[in-house]
Amino acid sequence: MSDLPAPTAPALTVVVPCFNERDTLGTFHARLSAVMATIGRTWDVVYVDDGSGDDTFAVMTQLQAADPHVAIARLSRNFGKEIALTAGLDLSRATEGIVVIDADLQDPPEVIADLVAAFTDGVDTVYAQRRARTGDSVAKRVTAHLFYRVMARLGDRVAMPPDTGDFRLISRRALNALLQLRERHRFMKGLFAWVGFPAVAVLYDRAPRAAGRSSFNYWSLWNFALEGITSFTVWPLKVATYLGLLVSVLSVLYGGKIVFGTLLFGNPVPGYPSLMSVILFLGGIQLMTLGLIGEYLGRIFNETKNRPLYILRDAIPSRIDPAA
Ligand code: UDP
Ligand code: MG
Repeated sequence: MSDLPAPTAPALTVVVPCFNERDTLGTFHARLSAVMATIGRTWDVVYVDDGSGDDTFAVMTQLQAADPHVAIARLSRNFGKEIALTAGLDLSRATEGIVVIDADLQDPPEVIADLVAAFTDGVDTVYAQRRARTGDSVAKRVTAHLFYRVMARLGDRVAMPPDTGDFRLISRRALNALLQLRERHRFMKGLFAWVGFPAVAVLYDRAPRAAGRSSFNYWSLWNFALEGITSFTVWPLKVATYLGLLVSVLSVLYGGKIVFGTLLFGNPVPGYPSLMSVILFLGGIQLMTLGLIGEYLGRIFNETKNRPLYILRDAIPSRIDPAA
């Protein structure tokens, strides 16, 4: 099998993961088509239904019937955004560039024109960087800010631009590189960054969600952060080493104090409170580091099972073939 795109492949493919987006999809597609028409390149769009519980797929089918630019795919169940996105990337046929965008209109489709304008020779990634987070709560903004700063310090050599989501345009060769990374724990922002290649930023204003609601809550955000950290650095594992070292040094000092205290003042058997706090403190640290090791171990376990990333239920290509 040849990996070369078919001769009728479009220049640009837009990949859109969708989960319960039936209320936004129509508007999204109208706005997307309007923008793509102004860009003047051949294009198609892959809508991936990530096992939606509503009639998102029916809406997609209508769009597909009405517009030859539309390709659709449906996963056998909900696999999560990162994997739905990967399915769409697997199916994209573009020869030049691939655009990744959310369906909920938080990433305004109009910005794609700016992304394409910045997609010049020698640039492989044009990522959209948020100027303002209007739609998000203060707490979400603060946690997101912290997360990016922490990641910037932890992820060695892989620079993840701050305030950047998955919304971006990547070149065919960057996509081919990305598609070689088949890990199950897909922290896309990190994977995009890992691939490397020259990248430039385009600033935009992130809008509030158009309809429906974000499927992300704090628990999933926390897990997302954990995913990012454990997928891209083993630095936390070293914390145990240094913590152990620190505790040993402190205990030698404390041991000295006890020995000298006993020699100088006798031994009236003191120390229940200090004994208790040391035991509890060390117990806590041990459980925490064990949990940390568990996080990595669990990921190793999941990766070694070597299951396919997703199961396709339907896939219908676009009909942009000029002969059709
Ligand atoms: N999404 C998906 N599968 C999921 C959750 C979300 O394909 O399990 C899609 C969703 O339809 C949207 C994008 O991923 O197009 C971003 O989702 P959401 O708006 O919930 O995330 P947020 O903007 O809060 O990061
Ligand atoms: Mg959103």
